[in-house]
Amino acid sequence: MTKKTKILSFYFKVNLLNRILIALVLGIALGIGLPQNSVDVIGFLTPFGDLFIRLLKMIIVPIITCSLIVGTSSIAPAKLGKVGIKAIFFYFLTTLCAIIIGLACAFVFAPGVGLDLSDTSVAISKTSNAPSISQIFLNMVPTNPFESMAKADILPIITFCMFFGIGLAFCKDSDDERIKSVANTVYNFFDGMSEIMFKVIKWVMEYAPIGVFALMFVVFNKNGASAVGPLLNVTLSVYIGLILQILLVYCVVCLIIGISPLEFLKKARPPMLTAFVTRSSNGTLPVSMETVDQDMGVPRSIYGFVLPVGATVNMNGTTIYLGVCAIFISNACGIDLGMGSYITIIITSILAAIGTAGVPGAGALMLLLVLESVGIKVEGSVGIAYGMILAMDAILDMGRTSMNVTGDIMASVWVAKTENELDMTKWEKKI
Ligand code: ASP
Repeated sequence: MTKKTKILSFYFKVNLLNRILIALVLGIALGIGLPQNSVDVIGFLTPFGDLFIRLLKMIIVPIITCSLIVGTSSIAPAKLGKVGIKAIFFYFLTTLCAIIIGLACAFVFAPGVGLDLSDTSVAISKTSNAPSISQIFLNMVPTNPFESMAKADILPIITFCMFFGIGLAFCKDSDDERIKSVANTVYNFFDGMSEIMFKVIKWVMEYAPIGVFALMFVVFNKNGASAVGPLLNVTLSVYIGLILQILLVYCVVCLIIGISPLEFLKKARPPMLTAFVTRSSNGTLPVSMETVDQDMGVPRSIYGFVLPVGATVNMNGTTIYLGVCAIFISNACGIDLGMGSYITIIITSILAAIGTAGVPGAGALMLLLVLESVGIKVEGSVGIAYGMILAMDAILDMGRTSMNVTGDIMASVWVAKTENELDMTKWEKKI
């Protein structure tokens, strides 16, 4: 084996998460350690960071299109009965609470303030062009979905894909064999496409350590040690938001349905931990199912629908993360967001959470979508701030995935209780 192939095989042998973390630390350490503003090194490394951002942007439209269509069309219309409506209502309400909590944390802790990246930008507008509220809703409906895709106009793409997905769900369920068969072909096509896109994401992520190193080096070499604080601040803000979601939303739901919040959290520990380490709601699904079945007394007829749909569309932790990080980036880049932009962030974060696949790192791609929806182009300083978030993504993903899964479990318990189907003998303390 030559020296070069030895280095390469060593690179691929080390676990990706560790590689990214090592790259993060190295980028920060060298960025701070080398003389500040080392123009030559910055000039050399900048394209490596830019390449990473470009690779991610390359994936965003196809991945959103495919996973949203597959996600919405996997809900069988027949199941969209009472249980379905209740679950979706619960998902919507808790997601709304999550984005409000996320934005509140972002206002209180002001992540990104003081990290002035605006001068590192080549060309970004200082004020995003916030449309009026009625315009926001109108803009959600594309006049030509293909034009929206070509322009990467995310919100209209989401609307179109949801219509398409629901239409597909009905056709898949049709009594007419011909319609059913063609609909299944279309479904399989999009399912295959999203699998392929996830494969591509895996490859892109193999490049992530290099991209993260370059992005971190550039930020810390330009800003010095002053950039460490904001990174810790944004992480802390997200985690405080996650804890508040448990305290203010899930604990209150437990009290409303008469079960002990502490007992709920104790029983939910195995899936929460599995989600924390795997960073995948989908991967945690078997553990969640086992827990609600064996320890929480939720009947299969309810969790069989509520949990898989939740793992696809209900992402409370991701919503909090999106809110906090969007504000972090706008603060760091000195972009003024008006009221219209905040409303757009609320709407897109909710929709983006629906479109987030339950796999590691999917939420970070959705952050691009939220940013672009308020007119923040991911280039120049915004690209750098986004790279900083990306560098911390593993740590942020652990917490948010854990919360995503907890939200799904809570929904299945709530639906079962309100349907009078929760086996209360499984619960020690009834309130
Ligand atoms: N990893 C998360 C999940 O599986 C999605 C995300 O990246 O936010 O739920």
